[in-house]
Amino acid sequence: MFIPPHLEYAISKIADVPDFPKPGILFKDITPLLQDKKAFSDAVDDLASHLNGANKVAGIESRGFIFAAAIAAKHNLGLVLLRKPGKLPRKTHVVQYELEYGFDSLEMHQDALDKNDRVLLVDDVLATGGTMMAGCELIAKSGAKLTNCAVFIEISALNGRNRLSSIPIHSSIIV
Ligand code: AMP
Repeated sequence: MFIPPHLEYAISKIADVPDFPKPGILFKDITPLLQDKKAFSDAVDDLASHLNGANKVAGIESRGFIFAAAIAAKHNLGLVLLRKPGKLPRKTHVVQYELEYGFDSLEMHQDALDKNDRVLLVDDVLATGGTMMAGCELIAKSGAKLTNCAVFIEISALNGRNRLSSIPIHSSIIV
């Protein structure tokens, strides 16, 4: 477990929910953190401290949107949405991946990024790493450069970091 002192308050606002959305999953519920202005602000500031020169912030549906949008607005950067299938109305890049609890795919508008963009990719939780890997692949398809991945919580037992071994990733808190 790794909790930096400046995030002890924020982590106290994460609710652990056993057996959600199915038996065996310990769900990290960020809604109490979002409801608390200091906890939310501390989390956004920590994630944003790892932009590494990005000009756009990409968020993964759905909870990644919340952190990505807050970082983008605060730092005057563009926001890119990596969405679940069938949600984006124009031409998309698509990547399929395996979740901790099922299969899914992610899509991104083909005109969301180009080779001149430098992107911070954001989500709330890193579990097995499949979602983040799919996000990285989507960004690669666009030709943009990934500056960093950032998640608020890394669940170390699920080894997502090993799967993303070649990719720079910042985790605010490791549990
Ligand atoms: P994974 O692809 O296994 O790394 O799963 C990460 C994605 O699933 C993120 O978008 C999370 O929002 C969600 N997720 C996976 N496991 C959990 C968990 N235990 N608590 C909350 N969200 C989770």
